[in-house]
Amino acid sequence: MTQKLNVVISTLNSKYIHSSLAPWCLLAGIEKYCDKNISAQVVEGTINEKLQNVADRIISKHPQVIGFSCYIWNIAKTRELILLIKNQLPNTIIVLGGPEVSYNAATVLKENQLVDFVLSGEGELPFALLLNAISHDDFAQTLPGLCFRKQEKIVVAPAYISTEDPPSPYTQKYFDSLNGRISYLETSRGCPYSCAFCLSGRCGNARFFDIERAKRELLLLANCGTQTVKLVDRTFNANRKRANQIFDFIIKNYGTQIPKGVCFHFEIAGDILDEETINLLSTAPVGAMQFEIGLQSFNPKTLKSVNRKTDMALLEKNIKLVIKNANMHIHIDLIAGLPFEDWDSFEKSFNIAYTLRPNMLQLGFLKLLYGAPMREQPNNFPCEYSIEPPYEVTQTPWISRDELEKLHCVEDALERIYNSGRFRRTLDLLMNKCDCTPFELFLEFGLLASEHGTQKISLNDYITLIFKYFSIHKSIDKIQLRDAMVCDFLATNASGLLPPILEIKDSAHKKAKMFLDSDCKTRQQKGVKRGLALLYSENCAVYVDYEEKNPVTLEYQLKKFNYMLQI
Ligand code: SF4
Repeated sequence: MTQKLNVVISTLNSKYIHSSLAPWCLLAGIEKYCDKNISAQVVEGTINEKLQNVADRIISKHPQVIGFSCYIWNIAKTRELILLIKNQLPNTIIVLGGPEVSYNAATVLKENQLVDFVLSGEGELPFALLLNAISHDDFAQTLPGLCFRKQEKIVVAPAYISTEDPPSPYTQKYFDSLNGRISYLETSRGCPYSCAFCLSGRCGNARFFDIERAKRELLLLANCGTQTVKLVDRTFNANRKRANQIFDFIIKNYGTQIPKGVCFHFEIAGDILDEETINLLSTAPVGAMQFEIGLQSFNPKTLKSVNRKTDMALLEKNIKLVIKNANMHIHIDLIAGLPFEDWDSFEKSFNIAYTLRPNMLQLGFLKLLYGAPMREQPNNFPCEYSIEPPYEVTQTPWISRDELEKLHCVEDALERIYNSGRFRRTLDLLMNKCDCTPFELFLEFGLLASEHGTQKISLNDYITLIFKYFSIHKSIDKIQLRDAMVCDFLATNASGLLPPILEIKDSAHKKAKMFLDSDCKTRQQKGVKRGLALLYSENCAVYVDYEEKNPVTLEYQLKKFNYMLQI
């Protein structure tokens, strides 16, 4: 007998601004493959909101089946959420899918009696087939990717990998729910590489969807009110010709069919960029695209051990070339805790990466994900890691627990000082004047800041900490340091009000303001906030009108003028 089925597809996003595409892909699968007696809706939540509220939203839909997309960041909260729901809806069928449960389905089913099914691999077709089977109460057939309990046993299926293009998730309901948040676009699945710490290599060879569909969806997303379209393709330029066609499509349509201000984010491999692509990218409008380029390490032995085949010299050269154009935000990353990467080797990798001067240098820590070869081959990768998500490595034969903890202090300082973009001039000055490497500087200050405690520190207090710490350094001129910090602050903080530690009461400030206002070209515009400060090391003043930010540096433009001579 066929029964009507009410289905909720849910996921807990890491933040409100991130809206996982997975539930919408599953919904598209249901619409394409399910019988008409099955109706489904998406209910999103975040890991930071009260779980009872998410549970209430789900329960209010009276679902007979709930599917959850599970990731490393939400699995713990998803388990709690299931408990809350099952307390009120004990007969609801719970189905889990996603990377966090795809390769450990037996354990998930053994440890969570409230979970009825796990779907391993791609979900669009398997979830729809499972719902059809539930509605017909017919489990005669084996379903792709379906893992379940059968009496005392657990039946596990291999991860399902489709050969077709998945149905498009972009419906009016998706756009309505997006509400200006970051949108995600998938134009391929899988990855041609197989890095030992990553799951993507297990999802089959890269499968590229129809390029005309990719362009169509790219335009849809660009015009839906979002500011950032994030391509989730694992190595977007794995197919160079196709990648160039899409880059070219964006460049040609930017400002016309693609509204100015929208930014497309790509994950690419830097060493396979060729001259043609680099030349093409140099013509991209400022801020139209941003790239995330994985480095992981500059130690060849480390890279080889995790199965990464990277031409490091070419990678370095290409990153420098794309950064030189200053038209794209470039994000590169390193991973601490990889095999053969000891303290000295990591320091070396960090210093090389820093000298490339990306817009963002992310220092991540190795995580041993379920299904990743590194986790499944402990003899080859003898690491200690936390048993709870995010399974971060805490010690390896090459790097100690203590050293990894110190690297967390480096990460904190790097995030706040470098990646925030709030201290560009200050850092240039410090690097010039202090006799230390970038790694030593971030380590030294990171350790100090951690002693001080930075968890809830305000920006003004952090600025005070930096100023006080470095201004007693014998090779640093206190006034030069203050002026660099003033310029950084004015360029990145639209309040226009200097933190007390950088403020100097001076009657010349008023005169400088009067001087600017006396000329119609420099007079403060109505409705536009202005920041103004005197720079004593250069004998000049600087002002900034808080109108438009540079989309790559995220800075407002500073304008200096010689007030001493002209007043
Ligand atoms: S780390 Fe990147 S290149 Fe390596 S397998 Fe994963 S997605 Fe592919």
